[in-house]
Amino acid sequence: MSDMLVEIGKNRTARTVIGKLGLPIPLPQVLNRGDGPWSDRPLVDRPVIVGGSGELAGVLSRTLARAGADLVLSDEALRPAYAEAAEAWSRPLGTPTEGLRPHALVFDASGMSAISDLRGLYDFFHPLVRSIGRCGRVIVLGRPPAEADSPSAAAAHQALEGFVRSVAKEVGRKGATANLLWVAGGAEAAAEPVLRWLLSDRSAFVTGQPFTAGTEVAAPDPVPWTRPLDGKVALVTGAAQGIGADIARRLAAEGAKVVGLDRPQEDARLADVMVGIGGLPLLADLADPEAPALIADTVQRVHGGIDIVVHNAGITRDKTLGRMDEARWDLTLDVNLEAVLRVHEALAAGPLRDDGRVVLLASIAGIAGNVGQTNYACSKSGVIGLARALAPELAPRGITVNAVAPGFIETRLTAAIPLATREPARRLSSLGQGGQPVDVAELITFLSTPGAASLTGQVHRCCGQHLTGA
Ligand code: NAD
Repeated sequence: MSDMLVEIGKNRTARTVIGKLGLPIPLPQVLNRGDGPWSDRPLVDRPVIVGGSGELAGVLSRTLARAGADLVLSDEALRPAYAEAAEAWSRPLGTPTEGLRPHALVFDASGMSAISDLRGLYDFFHPLVRSIGRCGRVIVLGRPPAEADSPSAAAAHQALEGFVRSVAKEVGRKGATANLLWVAGGAEAAAEPVLRWLLSDRSAFVTGQPFTAGTEVAAPDPVPWTRPLDGKVALVTGAAQGIGADIARRLAAEGAKVVGLDRPQEDARLADVMVGIGGLPLLADLADPEAPALIADTVQRVHGGIDIVVHNAGITRDKTLGRMDEARWDLTLDVNLEAVLRVHEALAAGPLRDDGRVVLLASIAGIAGNVGQTNYACSKSGVIGLARALAPELAPRGITVNAVAPGFIETRLTAAIPLATREPARRLSSLGQGGQPVDVAELITFLSTPGAASLTGQVHRCCGQHLTGA
């Protein structure tokens, strides 16, 4: 459904008039979103200012130059660390000029060894942060605090989280995002796909979030930058509409063969989505105990196995706890949580191939809780627990498992919320608007690619930094 304030904001004259009259109407920024399949150089000709003299200059310079960015050094002393990559990919290497509107500000804080080193953040961002372009990106790179060799270093690397979450709140009104990437020792090269995605337009609704690139699952070499899902088979549950339909479309656009599952009564809608992407519809009710075997048999028989599983189907049956009948409780817990585990176990026992990707749909309700959603929030917290428990089990096979927690996304689910509740919920995020189903689909598509190997056992919010829960 459309958001009236975003629509008004698209009109330049209306924006100017509202600004000039000083009317207290916060017009959210229209977000830049990528369209079509991934391109080889998502940052082509976009200036990115880099700073910080950490240990990640190698991966940072390579990522930016290979993605086509114009490298801008905040300090001439960085030139030797960035020159080789700039030359190798024929990218310009300069220093900030008057009036420059950078697409991104990237600060490498990985070299910090003490609390006093945090001053480097202020020195880099203070003069530059207001110059960031519309829908720009702020990225800070650090090391996981658990790897620090002193309390002072651990505190400094943890402190990056509060800094980035606050910057995200400050730049959000421009439609810009800020995210933190902690890169574990040994995961330096594997951080490139994460960085590239966070810097691209595909991460439009992901902001104020910490990511950790780890070494539990090895990334392939080379990483495919375009058509990353060629030759992969993906199962998407709840694919007939809403977020699931967009996940199916995005996975297919990046080369995957999609099996889309939904309930028998959604036959026509599911067929529509699958015809559009050359996918295979599979009708089954996940509440049916026979469904896991049917799904496992079908993907094995038709495709010889499965590489990507997105457990997206979910339901709400809202009522405050004292008024909730047991059927609402039981069905919500069963479809959103028990069925996920049942289907996972049937697939992991056979069809799920090595180097696979499993994504489970959680919700910010499962992080922050919500009135009238004890059943739903309980199921979605459980999903987060599942992702964390399954990740180490499957890592030896090269399989990652992540949870994705959407915030307020414009779907029929949120359209059904009464206006008085819907409007504040929509605005209560750093980006001041709800996300689109495609925003969640972009994150899930990224997590499904071979390059996302370094992310596993984590919860990734796609919520515009909704003010509930973080
Ligand atoms: P939706 O209701 O539009 O789509 C869900 C799909 O799942 C439907 O097509 C439905 O038929 C299918 N489904 C439900 N029960 C099923 C069952 N027993 N067997 C097979 N299929 C079944 O929902 P959506 O808004 O697109 O949400 C998708 C996922 O994202 C859900 O897990 C939801 O909890 C989660 N989520 C959504 C939002 C949001 O703002 N829309 C926010 C947080 C989390």
